[in-house]
Amino acid sequence: MKNWQFAHQYENLPDIFYSRVALHPVAAPKLLLWNESLAEELQLSQEAVTLDILAGNTMPEGASQIAQSYAGHQFGHFTLLGDGRAMLIGEHAVGGQVFDVQLKGSGRTPYSRGGDGRAAVGPMIREYIISEAMHALGIPTTRSLAVVATGEKIQRNTLLDGAILTRVASSHLRVGTFEFAARFAEKEDVKAIADFAIAKHYPSCKEAENPYLALLERVIDRQAELIAQWQLVGFIHGVMNTDNMTISGQTIDYGPCAFMDVFDPATVFSSIDTQGRYAYGNQPQIGGWNLTRFAETLLEVIDEKVETAIEQAQALIGTYNERFYTYWLAGMRKKLGLQTVQAEDGKLVETILRLMEKYNADYTNTWRALSANVTENPLSDITEFKEWQQRWHERLEAEGTSLQMAMAQMQQVNPAVIPRNYYVEEALTAAEQGDLSKVKQLLNVLSHPFSLADENAHYASPPDQGPYRTFCGT
Ligand code: AMP
Ligand code: MG
Repeated sequence: MKNWQFAHQYENLPDIFYSRVALHPVAAPKLLLWNESLAEELQLSQEAVTLDILAGNTMPEGASQIAQSYAGHQFGHFTLLGDGRAMLIGEHAVGGQVFDVQLKGSGRTPYSRGGDGRAAVGPMIREYIISEAMHALGIPTTRSLAVVATGEKIQRNTLLDGAILTRVASSHLRVGTFEFAARFAEKEDVKAIADFAIAKHYPSCKEAENPYLALLERVIDRQAELIAQWQLVGFIHGVMNTDNMTISGQTIDYGPCAFMDVFDPATVFSSIDTQGRYAYGNQPQIGGWNLTRFAETLLEVIDEKVETAIEQAQALIGTYNERFYTYWLAGMRKKLGLQTVQAEDGKLVETILRLMEKYNADYTNTWRALSANVTENPLSDITEFKEWQQRWHERLEAEGTSLQMAMAQMQQVNPAVIPRNYYVEEALTAAEQGDLSKVKQLLNVLSHPFSLADENAHYASPPDQGPYRTFCGT
């Protein structure tokens, strides 16, 4: 039997970073989803990860059973938070790596504030679907190992079926973890959490002249790359609060997130994002804002002299925009099948994006159509597009890349299928009524996003459903 191997690293941190929590057993757990391929990667068998463990009814021997403390800026406002409805089972060590395995929706903790510590079936399956889709797209993300129904009702606007998601992450360190340390703990604690992050995620920083500056630099770079990847596939996180930004550079917290259909930088799906703070087009800039909050937490460990620390941190924060743009443009070049770097590439990309916006073209399908002659191009009849296409073909020719070669590469980066809101909702509605077949079928299609069998072609062109709204699902 492939079994748990607990590392117990996080527990070596000062006590303020976590609380031991009680189990809150649930009435009638039932397994809804089990991620066999992830279980294999983790070398965990279903016998080791019993239904009762996934439900938080019992814990494996040596489990940590803790909730982590953190704070964060939510929509720009600082708040004390923490795992209010999550519990770390433990840090599972396998193949030289260590993974946090966490139950989300496992009941109240000291950080629950007014909440019930629970989660509903719909949002937990939603997180499972979208996080696994992101993984298949090659975007760093937390993963989903399982969803169980609790057999209990939870009160939201209506009574809903409760569920628990098992989330797997390289860690749950957030910008908000550092904000918590900087605001509520001592300098030694900030050092402790920074040293922990370095040892866990960026060990080479330890050798740097100033390890904490090096950590800041690494996190800025990873986040610049991550957010560029989101932009390239049209992913809208929806709630980029600093507590939902990881130090590892994995995407975390799939609440109101969704993929953009028609290209429009102002796209917002989240019902609570009334100001559009986290709109598609704002994500890069918000990334910079969040990283500035991160930099602030490190000042006291960067240098004894605050002016020196500020100067050094600011210099690094100042590199974020350029790093983001460089990752983004490199990704766009790949989306266009370009092999070399030319000065006018940014313009070429901007033009096609503006055309998509002007003519309400579907973002994913336009890219896919450019990558494969088989897909219908939403812009194909438009003269401005034809002119652009001419320029693009000339650009390819000038560098000696055949259209065929370009397309072969483009098909590896421009997905044929993304989690379309229509199909996600359709699958969730069926799941809430006890039918998981649509969820499983969707998961199957999304696990190979760069190819789409003919019989699944409809997943690429959903029926129009009008304005789409997402909810946090808390
Ligand atoms: P989220 O919107 O999921 O990022 O959560 C923000 C904060 O609210 C975190 O501290 C969560 O732990 C907490 N939270 C969300 N839902 C609940 C709930 N049902 N019960 C207790 N705390 C919750
Ligand atoms: Mg969160």
